[in-house]
Amino acid sequence: MAQFSRRQMIAGSLSAAALAPVCHLTPARAAAPQIGKQAPGFYRYRHGDFEVTAVTDGAIRQPLADSYVVNASRDQVNAALGAMHLERDRIFAPLTPVVINTGTRLVVIDTGLGPAAFEQSKGAGGQFHTNLRAAGIDAAAVDAVVLSHLHRDHVGGLLTKDGHPAFPNAEIFVPAADWRFWSDDGNLTRMTAGSIPEINFRNNKQVFASLKNRVTLYDADKEVQPGILSVPAYGHTPGHTAHLVTSGNAKVLLQADLTAFSATLFVANPGWHVFFDMDGAAAESSRRRIYDMAASEKLLVQGYHLPFPSLGQIERQGSAYRFVPATWNSSL
Ligand SMILES: [Zn+2]
Repeated sequence: MAQFSRRQMIAGSLSAAALAPVCHLTPARAAAPQIGKQAPGFYRYRHGDFEVTAVTDGAIRQPLADSYVVNASRDQVNAALGAMHLERDRIFAPLTPVVINTGTRLVVIDTGLGPAAFEQSKGAGGQFHTNLRAAGIDAAAVDAVVLSHLHRDHVGGLLTKDGHPAFPNAEIFVPAADWRFWSDDGNLTRMTAGSIPEINFRNNKQVFASLKNRVTLYDADKEVQPGILSVPAYGHTPGHTAHLVTSGNAKVLLQADLTAFSATLFVANPGWHVFFDMDGAAAESSRRRIYDMAASEKLLVQGYHLPFPSLGQIERQGSAYRFVPATWNSSL
């Protein structure tokens, strides 16, 4: 044991006594500044030989329109929102494009609202390209962009903020039935000014004005890109398409807008028709057919408007369904 002189011991105890209250009483420094914004959002997983990255474009919160669900009352919709612990009188919709690296091809599925929407939405949406960079993915390296349908929240990210092609080296794959519908000016004349279809129609004209020569049309049940099969899911739009991505034994269904914009609402209420489904009955029948398959085959489901990272499984629950989120994994 070390020997201390009386003097050392006194000095030691004095300094300890002197320090203790100092430590205890030191006032807290100024509070650390709050960051005030969300972290970049992406989630990566291995899928057979493929690497999949779900990249958020953000999430949009909108007032609940009276006629949002055409065959349910506002009270019924609010009760369903409440049952899911979601804000009443609001529709909350995350947007989650997906990037698939097959090992030989880099494929983007849907592109978000686009960078021009970032300011418009006060940063809530239009984040896809920022988050893509944060995920270490170079838009110039993308070989193909596959679109599920031609709605603004899926095609906006094809262009940069100043209107240039955001994926300068990519071929763009569009469902043929959607292309036919949205490029027929006769359809525009039947649309109400200011309606969602009319806004989408004009937006498509603007977005594809400089991209037409990069577009390749595709039909249902076709391998659009290696391992990526188109699955007809018509109703939301005439050519609305889901995609089944297969690598070895791994399968993930990219469901796109099979459950419309506020997806969990229509997972739990598959018989409800959102007012902008262009054919509500067809959308419901696609939803039930594909969800029944997903539940039976225990498929992993990646849903564009499901809660981020929008990955999980669909289970049957009586005549409705339940979304069970995948467990977050810290490694690939
Ligand atoms: Zn959508």
